[in-house]
Amino acid sequence: MSEPYRHTKIIATLGPATESKEMLAQLIRSGVDILRLNMAHATHQWVKDAMWFIREVSAEVGRHVAVMMDVKGPEIRTGKVERPISLAVGDRIEFHIEGADPTGDLPSVSVNYPGLPADLEVGNVVLVDSGLIRMKVFEKDASRLRLEVLTPGELGSKRHINLPGVQVNLPSLTEKDMADLRAGVECGIDFVALSFVRQAEDVRLLRELLDQLGSQARIIAKIEDQAGVRNLASIVRAADAIMVARGDLGIEIDYHKLPLVQTEMVRTCQADGKPVIIATHLLESMISSPMPTRAEISDVSNAVREQADAIMLSGETTIGNYPLESVQVLKNIIQSIEPTVDRGLNPHIVLREPKAMMLRSAAVLAGELERNGKGNSGIVVFTRSGFLAYVLGALRAHGIPIYAFTDVDHLFRQLLLPWGVEPFLMPFTDDDPEKTTLDALSYLKRSGWVNPGEWLVVITNALANEKVIDTLQLRQVE
Ligand code: PGA
Ligand code: MN
Repeated sequence: MSEPYRHTKIIATLGPATESKEMLAQLIRSGVDILRLNMAHATHQWVKDAMWFIREVSAEVGRHVAVMMDVKGPEIRTGKVERPISLAVGDRIEFHIEGADPTGDLPSVSVNYPGLPADLEVGNVVLVDSGLIRMKVFEKDASRLRLEVLTPGELGSKRHINLPGVQVNLPSLTEKDMADLRAGVECGIDFVALSFVRQAEDVRLLRELLDQLGSQARIIAKIEDQAGVRNLASIVRAADAIMVARGDLGIEIDYHKLPLVQTEMVRTCQADGKPVIIATHLLESMISSPMPTRAEISDVSNAVREQADAIMLSGETTIGNYPLESVQVLKNIIQSIEPTVDRGLNPHIVLREPKAMMLRSAAVLAGELERNGKGNSGIVVFTRSGFLAYVLGALRAHGIPIYAFTDVDHLFRQLLLPWGVEPFLMPFTDDDPEKTTLDALSYLKRSGWVNPGEWLVVITNALANEKVIDTLQLRQVE
């Protein structure tokens, strides 16, 4: 056991600041659970190299990490400009779709989405460069938009466009996304995060594609606009996990409602037993400063108090000057805040299956043992589908480690996401569940997770008159 036990998982995005062998090794050693590959800025070759490199370094370091491929989805961007265009309030500019001619009387920039003029109306507000430059449509035709600048700025090449409240008819998976997915699946990615999920159907389409490609990757739906928020409940049901993509969300909805939407998203996920990730700007100032701002410390604490499954770093670990320090700051905050969080089990979760109800009893029992000083009282669980471990995580049993054993390689890394789950890869002996249990207990003892005399709650199969039955057992470590 190299790291103290924590419930909240940490995700870091890989980029120029962290992709050297030395930095990657340190990042993995520092306790990052999942590495994110952001396809908005990446080529297939980079993905292949990165995947190979991650697996190699992680084997050398002796610590496992899962890999999340974050595909770009229906993102709208302006095209290339020779030099940045200065835009003052009241200035006028034109956007033309690729292949159309500029009118000629105004500076004109191309956009990558041919349906943009059709989706917008005169009077709509368009936000460019992650919300920094605001413009308003005053005229349009089939292939051009003419806009007046409301908030000034410099328009560079390939800037991200947001259209708050506008229904965009872009397909949920672009050609590039599909090609990226093929490359990622070949390399064995563990999670796919899909950007700008607007409806459950977007998730189903992705799942179909993954099935066709023979991938077992789990789907993380990124909620980044008003349509995604509106359809949250059905998206949560369709996806394997949710990301609160606060970067775009903070532009697409009223920024002052972001904390309310975050809380609602965390609640909805907890009711459905799905992991939820809080992303973007957690420690933004640490891109250039070795210390977080006081507001960032509070924001991270809030995510830990809300009991998000994972918190994510983006710019902090891709282009920042202090990537390792950023991970350390997250760990320090988690260590301070987690023990103070209200210890009741997740009151929102709806358990449908008898086996899931048994897990709640296991969590109650482990809590009782822990409060009465009978050791660290973890729960041991064996799983091949991940279901039991994901539900146990969703129950939010504070102070109770969840030791999840599986003999399925890809599932092993997918168990790195849910709250509090500590996964182990170990062969099972199917015709002798007792042997599998003893193997797991001795593994936990050997690797320092548990000590002799401590009590554990074990959920496992037992054979009774040749029938396999689910059991909840109380075991003392010998
Ligand atoms: P991005 O998504 O970093 O891919 O834009 C996250 C967000 O918008 O917060
Ligand atoms: Mn985004």
